[in-house]
This record gives sequence, structure tokens and C-alpha cells, in this order.
Amino acid sequence: MSGICVAILLRDAGITDVTIFEKAADLGGTWRDNTYPGLYCDVPSRFYQFSFAKNPRWSQVFSPGAEIHAYFRRVAERYRVVEQIRFSTEVVRAELDGDQWRVITSTAEEKRVDFLISATGILHHPRVPSIPGLETFAGSAFHSARWDHRADLDGKRVAVVGTGSTGVQIVCGLAGRAAKVELYQRTAQWVIPFKNRPYGRLVRTAHTVLPWLDDLGYARVRRQLGFFARALIAPGWRRRTLDRACRKNLDSVTDPQLRRRLTPTYEPMCKRLIVSSGFYDAMQRPDVELVTDDIDHVEPGGIVTSDGVLHEVDVIALATGFDTHAFVRPVQLVGRGGVTLDELWQEGPFGYLTVAVPQFPNFFMLLGPHSPVGNYSLTSISETQGTHVVNWIKRWQRREFDSVVPTDEATAAFNESIRAAMPGTIWVTGCDSWYLGKDGVPELWPWTPEEHRRRLLAEPPRSDFDFQVGSATRPAKSL
Ligand code: NAP
Repeated sequence: MSGICVAILLRDAGITDVTIFEKAADLGGTWRDNTYPGLYCDVPSRFYQFSFAKNPRWSQVFSPGAEIHAYFRRVAERYRVVEQIRFSTEVVRAELDGDQWRVITSTAEEKRVDFLISATGILHHPRVPSIPGLETFAGSAFHSARWDHRADLDGKRVAVVGTGSTGVQIVCGLAGRAAKVELYQRTAQWVIPFKNRPYGRLVRTAHTVLPWLDDLGYARVRRQLGFFARALIAPGWRRRTLDRACRKNLDSVTDPQLRRRLTPTYEPMCKRLIVSSGFYDAMQRPDVELVTDDIDHVEPGGIVTSDGVLHEVDVIALATGFDTHAFVRPVQLVGRGGVTLDELWQEGPFGYLTVAVPQFPNFFMLLGPHSPVGNYSLTSISETQGTHVVNWIKRWQRREFDSVVPTDEATAAFNESIRAAMPGTIWVTGCDSWYLGKDGVPELWPWTPEEHRRRLLAEPPRSDFDFQVGSATRPAKSL
């Protein structure tokens, strides 16, 4: 999604010598990889889309994954991004060579470029737990982002491991379809309800003929999520409002025993908040069971929990999340003086203003460390970061510099300010989550998304950067 976004922003700026390396045979990133039953985006579609390519024909407030994937494909085709993509070509290494990057692919091809932009996503590398005996399971077992569509689900017994946004959506998608769904919960989650409404033909037609309705819808959801973001970063009435909504939602579970087992021991929104109107209804169905005993091991016939019970199942879906700290990797990135990104990030990923890294000139990241990814729309964040990158490249085209890199001092100061802002946020109130880095500091933006936009779209302070000017002969511009 973010690669498509930046390619379009570059084209708009007249920069068309762009190569997109895509390791898969298709585009779409997370929307290509995730195809599990019940998949939808819990950010309303009116705002989970590019501001420059709004879709008036979304089918519902929260659209299903396949529809979102089709949207990105359409946009990529309309803006001729597809022509720039080298499919089935993985970047394995990129080395700084003078003022340029030498990119080496899995097909042993080399390409020299003036700027290197990573758009490799955050929730990309599946985290598969090492459960003893998993490999002996006689049925189908797979990670949620590698759904095996050969596995028959209708009338089968399905175990879903994990209660994040993915696990919750899968349970809702399978309840009533599978003969039995068992949800294996290690930690209970807070859930906020939001009704998903279909958009009727009249609404879709109105948005098609009156594009300003799309603009209004985009702005309205952006405002709503701005409210949400404020609740996350500072205590106050917004946080209390959402807190109450989560607790009231939990009250809809009528069996006190089940309600108690579904009650988290930390504050709402500390982990990424789950948006679902159907979850508690699904959990109260007779054919859906909550399992809170630890998984001990897997046998050919099913899952054995720590109390010794064998839960016989036909399918195991591992909704166990992703390695969220693997930004950019496993690409070997080699910057100034031979330093690798792995070495620089030994203690965890960090950057300057979410987009740049010291020692790695003319390299920019989309959705890099500390991007505002909470429950916000990543399409919007990508647009902001993409515009920031394009602004740098336009300056390079004007010959203001040959290479640019944030200084160590400015990067350290930025990260210090992040640490200083964290204590007010909900993410540090006592829970474990994929947000937390090795050092326990959330890898998130602790200010508003508007502040992110403001800072990235303003010209950053000159003193924060090390510019090299006139040190290189400029070869043909290629990106
Ligand atoms: P996740 O939030 O990281 O949740 C992983 C779940 O698996 C947690 O409940 C975790 O338990 C559990 N788990 C991990 N290892 C386990 C083990 N060995 N045994 C038992 N349980 C285990 O992952 P996710 O649900 O895939 O979601 C990741 C992110 O993707 C979301 O937070 C969201 O940002 C994004 N997402 C978005 C949407 C959307 O609609 N926009 C939909 C799906 C996902 P603990 O809590 O105890 O660690």
C-alpha cells in the first residue's frame, strides 16, 4: 500500500524513473497476504484510502479485505504503478556506494539508484509460536496471514489461537459456519463495538456524482480517529469515554463466568484496541468456546491444554501476530562506513521523524519506527511520509544537495523527546503488546497524527541534517 502510494506521489511530482521491487508475484502487501475468513479493515473505508483516489463505491463502512485489495490494484493500474513493479524480485541487499545505493536482488540483478525508499510494512513477518508437536498435527495448521484455503472449514472443528484483531475477526467469520470454534486466549482483550453498515445503491451513486461527499466523509472519519488518537496519548475525557464504551460492551456478555474470563486485567487501549460488534455475540454462541488454559502441546488429533484435556480439532489457525520490530529486514542494508542497519538497530529500531536513519543517506522509510500506527489509517500516514520523501527528492533535483542524512544528535534528540512523551500514553499503563520495543518503550508516535503531518510537511531544521553538496558527479537520475 505504501509503495503504491509513494510511486503515485513521485509520478505527480514528475519523477517517473522509479523501480518498485516486489518479492511476491502480486501487489497489495497485507491485503494480498491476509485472506482469512472474516477479514475486514477496522478503520472506516472512507478514510482507509488515498485522499487523491477516493472510492465512492465502498460497499460498507468497514470494507472486507478482498474489496480493499481490489481497490489498491485498481489504483495501481490507474496510476500506471503496475508498470514500475518488478514482481517476484526480492531485494536482498543494498549498499551505499558514493552518493548512490547499489541494490542487489534475489535474481542477482544490480541496480544503482539515487534514493532508496523502504515500503516493506510493519505487520509482515508472521510470528509462528513453537508449540511442541505442532508438526505432528493430522489436520491443517497455518498462520492467519498464510491461510490455507484448501482446508475445509464448513462443519469442521476449528481452533483459533490468539485474541488480537485477527483472532477476533476469524472467530466472527467462522461462528455458525464451522461446527465448532475454540478460541485459545492467553490474554483477554478489550473490544469496542462499531456497527458496520452497508452503503446502499443510493449512497454509492450520490458519492459517485457528488465527489465532495467523499471529501466530507474522509474529513469526518479523520476527525473521529483524531479523537481516538488523543484518547491514546493523554488521559482525560476522551479516554474515559472510550473506556466506558469498552466496559459497557463487555457487560453484554450475560454469563458472569464467561464475562470474568473475557475481562482484561489492564486498561482499555493499552494493547491495540479491537473494533468489533460481533465478537461477544459470537463468544456466547453454543458452538463457540473460550479456552483459557495454556496450550501444552499438539497431538495428531488436536490441542492438549495444561489441564491434560485433548481438544479434538480439524484445523488450527494461528492468529499469533507478527514480528513487528523487523522493519526493513531481512534486507541487508549497508550504510556509511560499512555499518549495517542490523548493527545500528541492535537495541531496537529507531529513526529520525519516523522516516530517516543516521548513517544511511538518501534512504527513507515509509511506516518506519514510531509512525502513528495505533488505530489510525495507515494510508494517511503513508501519504504524509511519501510527501515528505518527495519533498526531499525535489530539493535534490534543484541541486540543493547530493546526499542528505539526519545527524546522530538530531536523531538522539528526537528519540529522547519520544521517551519523554510516553508516560502520558495509554500504552505504558501495564500491558504487554506488539507496540513495545525491547526496552519497553512503545514504537509509536506519542503525539497526535496532525502533529506528525505538521512536522513532516514542514521543512525540517537544516541543522538536523548532514548535507553533502557537490561531492559527486551526478549520473542520470533514477530512483
Ligand atoms: P496480535 O495483536 O499481536 O495478537 C496476537 C495474539 O496471539 C495475542 O492474543 C497473543 O497473546 C496471542 N499469542 C501469541 N503467541 C501465542 C502463543 N504462543 N500462545 C498463545 N497465544 C499466543 O496479532 P494480530 O491479531 O494478527 O494483530 C496484529 C495487528 O494487525 C493488530 O494489532 C492491528 O494493528 C493489525 N490488524 C488490523 C486489522 C484491521 O482490521 N485493521 C485486522 C487484523 C489485524 P498475548 O496478548 O498474550 O501476547
